[in-house]
Amino acid sequence: MNGNTLVMKFGGTSVGSAEAMAQAVEIVRQARQEWPRVVVVTSALSGVTNLLLDSASQAAAGNAQRFIGGAAELKALHTSIAEKLIAEAAAQAQMRSEINLLVSEFTNLCHAINVLGEATPRALDAVASLGERMSIRLLAAALESQGVASRAIESTLFVITDNRFQSAHPNIEETNLRTRQLLNPLLDQGIVPVSSGFIGATREGITTTLGRGGSDYSAALIGAALPADDVWIWTDVDGVMTADPRMVPGAHTISQLSYREVAELAYFGAKVLHPKSIRPVVEAGIGLRVCNTFNPNHPGTRIYTEVNHLEAGKIKAVTTIRKQVLVTIEGRGMLGVPGVAARAFAAVAATHTSVPLITQASSEQSICFAVPSESAKQVLDSLRSTFSLELASQDIDSISAGEEVEIITTVGAGMRATPGVAGRIFSILGANQVNVIAIAQGSSEVSISLVVDARDAKAAVAALHQLITDDLPA
Ligand code: ADP
Ligand code: ASP
Ligand code: MG
Repeated sequence: MNGNTLVMKFGGTSVGSAEAMAQAVEIVRQARQEWPRVVVVTSALSGVTNLLLDSASQAAAGNAQRFIGGAAELKALHTSIAEKLIAEAAAQAQMRSEINLLVSEFTNLCHAINVLGEATPRALDAVASLGERMSIRLLAAALESQGVASRAIESTLFVITDNRFQSAHPNIEETNLRTRQLLNPLLDQGIVPVSSGFIGATREGITTTLGRGGSDYSAALIGAALPADDVWIWTDVDGVMTADPRMVPGAHTISQLSYREVAELAYFGAKVLHPKSIRPVVEAGIGLRVCNTFNPNHPGTRIYTEVNHLEAGKIKAVTTIRKQVLVTIEGRGMLGVPGVAARAFAAVAATHTSVPLITQASSEQSICFAVPSESAKQVLDSLRSTFSLELASQDIDSISAGEEVEIITTVGAGMRATPGVAGRIFSILGANQVNVIAIAQGSSEVSISLVVDARDAKAAVAALHQLITDDLPA
């Protein structure tokens, strides 16, 4: 029943302690018995990427103590896992020296940042990459120690990107070619390549990263390149759930989702899958599964091209994007002036800010969209400078940002063209005294997004989740 090639990605918590990593090793060992070709992709140990980036920014701000302490922490964490999971003395000594080497690279980079007083995006990527560069070595050695032939391999050798540091775009053709060239010979010999997630390199070999949480994306890219039959994302919850279980205690696993549904969920804030990880697998027709390292017998969530039976009117999940503000451009003089929206979004794009949601009133007298609160000032400055003439002539009256809001999205392909759904959503929010500030419906019609005041968000999510629970068979 199984195919030939399986890519398995382990997230930070799945390798974050000796116990977790031992569990990941066992999962790979078992998969290896059923799948002839297995590729492992791993994140850094949980907390490590944050520690690395925080140390680097503190170093830039003049605080050297943070990275000195950080180096000791990194060394202790990785060494203690090596001691527990690598049985052979020589292999353990080898691992210690590799950890020491990478930790000194960290200290040297932070020292340089400290002296310069500046952490450039390029330097931050060099520092951030160290987490995965350590975790692959540790996991590969732990696998070897359990008799699974494996080899740590840095994805800087085959995930080739542009030089947009901290959020690099892969060059798909080149990445596909190199991935096959490097991984196939290992797979042909029955070796499990243990690749770093998150990181890549430019053609010139300079290290880049794909953005926070980007290891899921790496696994999807590698899966599409080989191509694999399946990509399994191993994380710390039982698959994709009806809401973030950290926020909604009653959340439960969704056993089946379509690619379009999971794409909306990921895009609108479900951290369990990186939004960019969907496209490569859909395009290559690869199966996707999300499952729990700490509960491996649970089937988790399977993602299909189309889910067999749509249940009319059914909402499957609710997600949130936090810490946003709504930016509004208003003015009667905007009416019918061509190009205002284009110029506005160009001004936002110039600040490298992403816009998760746009609403426009039909009167064309205002444009309203959400941006992360941390980018609000930069976005307003850019818009005001772009429209300085229109502001002076009062064709545009104001460009402003409101209070902090959250975007709450309900997802479900069964909501499509079901008139009652919006009604149920608004009634239950009304009954819970939640004021809806703006609404947007995804063009794919599998989602409806609402903007609510940050103070109302918790109540809104709880109320909407109740709609999902009410639909469950008794
Ligand atoms: P990993 O390190 O394995 O990549 P992440 O922390 O990136 O794990 O993602 C898993 C987390 O995503 C879960 O612990 C959960 O809190 C959060 N999450 C948010 N929304 C959802 C959802 N709808 N379903 C499952 N998990 C979710
Ligand atoms: N280690 C990276 C991060 O923390 C990538 C990932 O975990 O997916 O963002
Ligand atoms: Mg993640």
